[in-house]
Amino acid sequence: MNSLSAPGRRTDPLRRSDLPVAATARRLAGTGSVFGAILDHGPVARSTVARLTGLSPASVTGHVGQLLARGLVRESAETSGPRGLGRPHIPVEVDTGRYLVAGAHIAVAHSTVSLMDLRGRIVAEDRQPHRTKDPHRMLVELASRLPRLTAAHAGGRTVLALGLATGHRVDPVAGMIVEHPQLGWRDVPARDILAAATGLPVHVDSHSRALARAEQLFGEESTRTSTVLLFVGAVVDAAFATEGAMHRGPRSGAGSVAHLPLGTGGTGSPGAGGDGGAEPCSCGRTGCLQSEVSERAMVRRAAAQGLVVGSFRELLDRALAADPRAVALFRRRARLVGRAAALLLDMFDPEVLVVVEPGSGRIPACLADLRAEVAERSWVCEDPERAVVPTSFTGSVLATAGGAVALGALYTDPLGPWPALPAVS
Ligand SMILES: [Zn+2]
Repeated sequence: MNSLSAPGRRTDPLRRSDLPVAATARRLAGTGSVFGAILDHGPVARSTVARLTGLSPASVTGHVGQLLARGLVRESAETSGPRGLGRPHIPVEVDTGRYLVAGAHIAVAHSTVSLMDLRGRIVAEDRQPHRTKDPHRMLVELASRLPRLTAAHAGGRTVLALGLATGHRVDPVAGMIVEHPQLGWRDVPARDILAAATGLPVHVDSHSRALARAEQLFGEESTRTSTVLLFVGAVVDAAFATEGAMHRGPRSGAGSVAHLPLGTGGTGSPGAGGDGGAEPCSCGRTGCLQSEVSERAMVRRAAAQGLVVGSFRELLDRALAADPRAVALFRRRARLVGRAAALLLDMFDPEVLVVVEPGSGRIPACLADLRAEVAERSWVCEDPERAVVPTSFTGSVLATAGGAVALGALYTDPLGPWPALPAVS
């Protein structure tokens, strides 16, 4: 029996949009899993792909044939098995020579456009400060930067699709940025605007879900079992995934942890006492996760301590250059992020929690502080060294996020409607 029609299944209209997605996922699971196995293990023999995916050798041959016909994989020059004894096993690998995807990420103060190959490697990126906060104008301006980037860096490869990632609430099914409070955006039809401006298929998602998907595809393999990804930048939010599938929620609101109370008002906590006290939050309270650890809060706290910097990036550069005041600010941030991480670990008990935060990605003392805070506060996590890891994409997080939205869609549905690819039967 089709599980979707099983008696007793909820038919909440809010969930109806999931049904075609589930049906598509089932129909295409075969080719998608073969493509994923080739990404993981290529160059790899078809017989090994059959073993890895549990599919029959004949159906793997069929799926590989379709991927070859689309130019997404190629037969490797390298061969295995004894020469001269019948037909050699010709391994297959992802073809990175024909196609790219484009990515776009919208941050609070700037945007990044990027090109990524089919193995998730960044080919080029371009970051620019916002010149407008009008959503339509900003998206059209973003789109206008792509042809120049492609002409300079694509090396003759064709761009298959554009992925857009941003913070807060994004609905990938509707193609909408539902709400981005710091930009003042609500219900922005980003997919339609970008598709009209670029002529490309466009996929949109939250940057946290995009980065969690990037980990599953080409980063930390344990995220495929279950994961929480905590993003700490100008925006603070999170993503949850289990059995490889992202949990979005009926309002696209899963992972809205910006206003998680940290309890920084009390004596003896990192936010208390002589270092400036708890930050007031946009929500009217004090001591929320985002108001304590966001980039803006970091710059403001640095200024309050006499360390005047022009931007968060400059503060990070100072910390990387071992300026003790800057390092102390990042270590405080790491401890506060550790508190939130401990709560999320207890709530969800994921296989691994990924932290996207440049201090813990690049300063060993920060990662140690974060893990120590988790060890002290979490009730379920007994091995923070294994269970809490920095992102695999430190230094290229924003360029990765946008591209990962498009590549995630391609690896889920390689036989789907990708206009730049040859049709398959
Ligand atoms: Zn708040």
